[in-house]
Amino acid sequence: MEKTLVIFKPSAIVRGFVGQILARFQQKGLIIAGMKMMQLDEDLLRVHYAHLVDRPFFPSLLESMMASPVIVLCLKGKDAVKVVRLLTGATNGREAQPGTIRGDFSMSGQENIIHASSSIEDAEVEIKRFFSDDEIFEWCPQNVRMLYAPDEM
Ligand code: UDP
Ligand code: MG
Repeated sequence: MEKTLVIFKPSAIVRGFVGQILARFQQKGLIIAGMKMMQLDEDLLRVHYAHLVDRPFFPSLLESMMASPVIVLCLKGKDAVKVVRLLTGATNGREAQPGTIRGDFSMSGQENIIHASSSIEDAEVEIKRFFSDDEIFEWCPQNVRMLYAPDEM
């Protein structure tokens, strides 16, 4: 099954939304394949946000992402990358649809609660960026038949 990377940003950690956001992913039926807390540093963020290093807001983004430890998650499911992006909502919290995580928890284009991989290719690279192989668990819950029909697995 497909895997994707999610980061609970400092805006989620500091505001105390870890439980509520994690519950949304679990109630959807996504399987937690890896999860840990870590402090991000500038070197890693310059790689992770390489597409944004020349933007004027990058110094502020760096500061924001290092403001507290983060929680990184690897979530597993059919079409997990697309499903998690749908649950996440648009980048700017003020424009994100109500019902999405950013739409329900954020008023900001920067303090937007979580990161989620934007493509299958990015997800593969990002999971390796944040997790070692032995931190990703190839397990499947016993009730997986209640999550998917046989031809969906
Ligand atoms: N960001 C920002 N200002 C902007 C655009 C993006 O501070 O004008 C931050 C925001 O936290 C966003 C992150 O940079 O989540 C990565 O931007 P990207 O365009 O990849 O958006 P995402 O994939 O997170 O929706
Ligand atoms: Mg992105």
